Amino acid sequence: MKVEFDDVTVALGGRDIVHGASLTAESGTVVGLIGPNGSGKSTLLRALYRAVRPREGRIRVDGTDVHRLSGRQSARTVAVMLQDPHTDFDLTVHELVLLGRAPYRASFGRDTAEDLRIVDEAMRSVDVSDLAERMAATLSGGQRQRVMLARALAQQTPVLVLDEPSNHLDIRHQLELMSIVRGLGRTVIAALHDLNLALQYCDHVVVLADGRVAAEGPPSEILTPDLIRATFDVDARLVGDPDEEVLAFRRPKAERHDCVPSTSRTESVRS
Ligand code: ADP
Ligand code: MG
Repeated sequence: MKVEFDDVTVALGGRDIVHGASLTAESGTVVGLIGPNGSGKSTLLRALYRAVRPREGRIRVDGTDVHRLSGRQSARTVAVMLQDPHTDFDLTVHELVLLGRAPYRASFGRDTAEDLRIVDEAMRSVDVSDLAERMAATLSGGQRQRVMLARALAQQTPVLVLDEPSNHLDIRHQLELMSIVRGLGRTVIAALHDLNLALQYCDHVVVLADGRVAAEGPPSEILTPDLIRATFDVDARLVGDPDEEVLAFRRPKAERHDCVPSTSRTESVRS
């Protein structure tokens, strides 16, 4: 399903945080949302999964305004995986992932064999099957993050929102997570800090700066040293094989020596 943000403005605490943002995630694509801390990525995503209502503009999924869906319809349309989930962790991993099936259950209905099959498959795909009977509260940050992805997958929504999905994951699980979400064939919108993940796994990237869309397009065209410098104020360059280039980062040259005490440098020059 296609997701369209049309001139979306979101205000929080009486202040506009996102200003007239327009962007489209084509059906089945992975869109990376990048930008510095505080640029409005989470706020934009929250408007999509209805944690906040835009002050102006529309967010449509397959042409339907998400803020006009019922709670149940919305939960069958958009699933979310957050960076630091505040969930009831007084549950086993299996019970937590089963919550993903709630939008499909009749009130007081029992889990069906189909629900259990979907939950098992979701847990297997993110490598948490062996944690099934563990209490969620006892998991490491990375394990918990994968469990939350399993729950979102079990929700079987056409749209998946990920807010910094990989910040607790080890490098192997980061790469696995991105290739899992790529392979889903669902529409994925992910706020990413790791520009190399965006470069490698996204079909399209959108750069937010101060709550505005500053640039968007194919990752290799957008994630250039110039744009990265302008957006994040760091030096970047592409290194490695031409078909597998990765970005390497450094602080701007002018700032690199500020950790060396200037007095001792002066002294050593004199002596
Ligand atoms: P990002 O995810 O890109 O780091 P956020 O969307 O979390 O950015 O935040 C964007 C801006 O909105 C920040 O300046 C932040 O302080 C502000 N903000 C976030 N939540 C609230 C809130 N509930 N009330 C007021 N301001 C908020
Ligand atoms: Mg954020």
